[in-house]
Amino acid sequence: MPTLLGIPLDVNSSYLLGAAKAPAKIREALHSDASNSWTELGVDLGAAGAFADAGDLRLSDSLEKVPEDFAEVERAVGALLAKNEALVSLGGDHSVTYPILKAFSRYYSDLTIVHFDAHPDLYDEFEGSHVSHACPFARIMEERLAKRLVQLGIRTMNRHQREQAARFGVEVVEMRALPAYDRLKIHGPVYLSFDMDVLDDPAFVPGISHREPGGMTVREAIAHLHAIEGTIVGADVVEYNPAQDVSGMTATVAAKIVKEILGKMIAS
Ligand code: MN
Ligand code: MN
Repeated sequence: MPTLLGIPLDVNSSYLLGAAKAPAKIREALHSDASNSWTELGVDLGAAGAFADAGDLRLSDSLEKVPEDFAEVERAVGALLAKNEALVSLGGDHSVTYPILKAFSRYYSDLTIVHFDAHPDLYDEFEGSHVSHACPFARIMEERLAKRLVQLGIRTMNRHQREQAARFGVEVVEMRALPAYDRLKIHGPVYLSFDMDVLDDPAFVPGISHREPGGMTVREAIAHLHAIEGTIVGADVVEYNPAQDVSGMTATVAAKIVKEILGKMIAS
């Protein structure tokens, strides 16, 4: 059964804090009476046993305690995977994907990551940190925690990150190359990492930390999400920053993405 897990951690964010407050806001929007419980793929998330919610992790969210917090994320995700549950985590900044994938790599040897983001997050280090939210996919690829990494919606590539992508064999689909449905015919287990700033911001999602105009519409993102073949065994939705939001707009979009991920997991 897909299980929600809140990860209130934003101390590895290089620019603005706030994403640690996201899990509660996304849950509130997910359960809002403004919409019914059916997903676009015809799954009723309101049915008994459709999905579970493991609540939020208790983390210190301080720079001094990052190793302990990462260990707790890895432990909690591993405990869900040991019970054969599929994870949908609510971030948190994007640094959380590294400890999550550490847990997944113990259960899946042939994982393909589909990564929606404005940013490749492939820095070897950023402002002195190797666990910055600008670095997770460098750590994941150098530790071989996944077999393939397919990135969608990228629009901030620089020389260093292009070199990193080549070094790790990352399959980068830049924003200007979309649509890319043919790149999503994946065999085997899929881990979906969804950074909210892949969407056009601030137009659709003002509530993020690094605004980067020219991204996906909500419809383009959902269409690519629905087009994924292979079995989605885990997902994260990260970088929603309530402190930057306007009228809960971004929470509503994040909840819609979570809803369609849950529906896709259940339908397949
Ligand atoms: Mn990111
Ligand atoms: Mn990003």
